[in-house]
Amino acid sequence: MNVKDLLSAHDLPRYNELKPEACAPTIDALIAQAQAALADVTRPETPATWDTVMVPLTSATEQLSRLWSAVHHMGAVMDSPEWREATNSRLEAVTQFWLGVAQNLALFEKFKALAHDPSVTQHPARARALENSLRDFRMGGAELAPEAQAEFSKLATQSAQAGQKFSEQLLDSTNASTHWIDPSETSRLAGLPDHAVAAAAEAAEAAGKPGYLFTLKQPSLIPVLQFAEDRSLRETMYKLNARRASEIAEEGPQHDNTPVMGEILVLRQAQAKLLGFGSAAEMLLESKMADSPEAVVKFLRELAAKARPSALSDLADLRSFAATELGLSDLQPWDISFASEKLRQARYDYSENTLREYFPLPRVLNGLFGCIRTLFGVSLVPATQAPQSQPPIWHPDVQVFDVVRQPQGSREAEVVGHVFLDLYARATKRGGAWMDDARGRRHEAAVGLDQKPIALLTCNFAPPTGEAPTTLTHDDVITLFHEFGHGLHHLLTRVNEIEVSGINGVEWDAVELPSQFMENFAWEWETLQAMTAHTSTQAPLPQDLYDKIIAAKNFQSGLATLRQIEFALFDLRIHHELRDIHDAAEAGAAIQRVLQEVRDEVAVLMPPAINRFAQSFSHIFAGGYAAGYYSYKWAEVLSADAYAAFEEAGDAGRAAVGERFLAEILSQGGSRPAMESFKAFRGREPSIEPLLRHTGLAA
Ligand SMILES: [Zn+2]
Repeated sequence: MNVKDLLSAHDLPRYNELKPEACAPTIDALIAQAQAALADVTRPETPATWDTVMVPLTSATEQLSRLWSAVHHMGAVMDSPEWREATNSRLEAVTQFWLGVAQNLALFEKFKALAHDPSVTQHPARARALENSLRDFRMGGAELAPEAQAEFSKLATQSAQAGQKFSEQLLDSTNASTHWIDPSETSRLAGLPDHAVAAAAEAAEAAGKPGYLFTLKQPSLIPVLQFAEDRSLRETMYKLNARRASEIAEEGPQHDNTPVMGEILVLRQAQAKLLGFGSAAEMLLESKMADSPEAVVKFLRELAAKARPSALSDLADLRSFAATELGLSDLQPWDISFASEKLRQARYDYSENTLREYFPLPRVLNGLFGCIRTLFGVSLVPATQAPQSQPPIWHPDVQVFDVVRQPQGSREAEVVGHVFLDLYARATKRGGAWMDDARGRRHEAAVGLDQKPIALLTCNFAPPTGEAPTTLTHDDVITLFHEFGHGLHHLLTRVNEIEVSGINGVEWDAVELPSQFMENFAWEWETLQAMTAHTSTQAPLPQDLYDKIIAAKNFQSGLATLRQIEFALFDLRIHHELRDIHDAAEAGAAIQRVLQEVRDEVAVLMPPAINRFAQSFSHIFAGGYAAGYYSYKWAEVLSADAYAAFEEAGDAGRAAVGERFLAEILSQGGSRPAMESFKAFRGREPSIEPLLRHTGLAA
């Protein structure tokens, strides 16, 4: 029976036989099994040891999670009414089960007792796993008195509703403003790419109008700002967009997000206070790698100071180009994208199509596998458990590999895990690229378990046409390296406890370290030589083309860095400094004030007074990035600094540094704090210098 294969610790899951109608009843059975395990381990007479509490509970819940994530994965890569039905029919039951675990105070008590048992205290990874679980209980309000607990869940519900309202108002305001161009004014479309013009004509037709309709949706807005020669068209669209969801929005103040932003902030500060934190930022950083709001602010300001000279020179450069080449002597906010695109084309002209001829997919994969072998002594070979006649895959495009590790100087090779690659776009696949954890590493001597990890890597590259292999853009190649970084983190772990093996239990702001780290290799001359072969001449990437992509890589990196810092500093400061404001209206006004202060401090390009950026900053008001926007730059610093160790070692030392990266970072997963792993690898705290150097910002 196919679901059983999926839940095995050893066999490859037979996705080819997985049927949605078989999954749903199995989910019910696994929920019942997990409920029983939960009841068992929380009984007063159950001794609080790792083997009697954690092992049976994890065994039961892990099976449920694994099947549930398989159902999700199939829905994402093989969308069908049957898979949707399998997900939707069990969504509530699964959510309720996990909510019940999170609120089970008997389990919390059992965990607290377990934290003192030698079966935990004598194993650092187990102690770490338990520490995370206890933290999650506390952050959910488990330690509060009953009255405060009720208050806490009320705040959490209100906060979720306010976030939802923020998103809805933003969407409504985005949809409320459009700009129509009469068919007699086609000259106003000059410069726009054909696809943008076609889309605007379609939008007009759908609205029952002749001519062209532009909207504030990204695919409509961005081409106008980037390419439209008509300055007044750019200005109109820029201003409509900048005023979205505010009191001065085109459609009027009915979608103004200012009050709900104030409300969200006040609710978060109240939650933080109940849990005993000084501010919402302190609460939100509790599960992250960064130590404190002050440490994050210091980090951002240091980076801002370093990026500033480059940003100023980027801007001066753009101004002079715009004045002399484009006749724009008074560069306005709605000219920035347009002039930047023109400058980029003038400086680093190369065609994406010429470049991609050098990157046929099979060659790229070969190069990537070679790079991984050199760095970590790990080979990817076609899976031995996958028979040619009936491969265990959900679609003919999918390839399965064994991950074979042969340590330096050793003759012993060991299969440490498996990876499924599903690289081509298709109608039934969700967009984007991601890595799914299909099975985590788990080694429990007590129950004779030695479970090997499985990663599922999904991309959306253009499928091959006819006999010729698919060719990739350089961006595609970077995406592939990035997702393999996540995959290696998951697959090369040596941690026994699944709660903290691989990517499990890794701090949220450190998860992107291995993925962004791997991206660096996709820019190396040697690595590129080994993974390029022109589709007709077989020649590797020539030097002049390489020089162009490297030069284009850091185009306007000073301006881009300062922009990211502006967002991150604003996010962190409102969540930390506005902690004593309890009135939503007052908080809404204070948010605007802090934004202005941050701009005065950081921005080299001051937006016009009508710009209401915060009112559409969904990442922090409606997404998971509250007091976390800094993590983009944070992870870049870590990954650039880690990669710098390879640069310092040179070719001869590369394998040794790779071995150390494997031992101290990839193998360790979430079994210890990310900062400890980083310091063990680098021998010191992270430095921002390598990132500055790699992005051309070093003095
Ligand atoms: Zn990633």
